[in-house]
Amino acid sequence: MSEEISKLQEIVNGAHSIVFFGGAGVSTESGIPDFRSVDGLYNQKYDYPPEEILSHTFFVRKPEEFYKFYRDKILMVDAKEEPKPNAAHLKLAELEKAGKLSAVVTQNIDGLHQAAGSKTVYELHGSIHRNYCTSCHKFFDVDYMRKADGVPRCDECGSIVKPDVVLYEEGLDDETIDGAVRAIRNADVLIIGGTSLVVYPAAGFVNYFRGSHLVLINKGETAQDKNADLCIHDSIGKVLGSITV
Ligand SMILES: [Zn+2]
Repeated sequence: MSEEISKLQEIVNGAHSIVFFGGAGVSTESGIPDFRSVDGLYNQKYDYPPEEILSHTFFVRKPEEFYKFYRDKILMVDAKEEPKPNAAHLKLAELEKAGKLSAVVTQNIDGLHQAAGSKTVYELHGSIHRNYCTSCHKFFDVDYMRKADGVPRCDECGSIVKPDVVLYEEGLDDETIDGAVRAIRNADVLIIGGTSLVVYPAAGFVNYFRGSHLVLINKGETAQDKNADLCIHDSIGKVLGSITV
């Protein structure tokens, strides 16, 4: 066991209310590509940058194009197998079950924390698992979206179904923000993983933390490295996976 892992184990052992804040790096280790990453998009077959396709205006104006990208890159309908929770997701669920972790705050929309067994999950950017008719608000699950041919339409009223995913130009959900902020404020340990913490909203949330240990786990450097009590530059699954609950 490396010195860094021993130190993390020590912090976890003494913690009562851990909050985990996760970015795209948590999902990429489950094989979900980060569509914002450089190699992700610009070499692809799309006529628009992903930031434009995944915007509210684009969804309204060109739903066919939106869903072509969404089904391909976000739902990954052609993937050989569905992404599964990795060692990081599983360990966090285990920590919650043991009463050591109070919440997961995530920027990911894939639902892998819940698939791993986590209960209190604040999904800042929404979830692919919740979808609603834009007219009658009927709920549809992700299978309905995967099976739809082209633009998914409501089986009651025929209107377009929209994923409960926060698109560019759209605001984050107030209740989700409140829950995430409250959890971070009351945490004694904040573990941030899989994000470089340079983009909003990740950077802002860290400021609410008043606990004793800030831990950063990321393959690359982050904007908060100098403020952290412990900083591990490695795979999030590898690091959390080696912790004993
Ligand atoms: Zn409807």
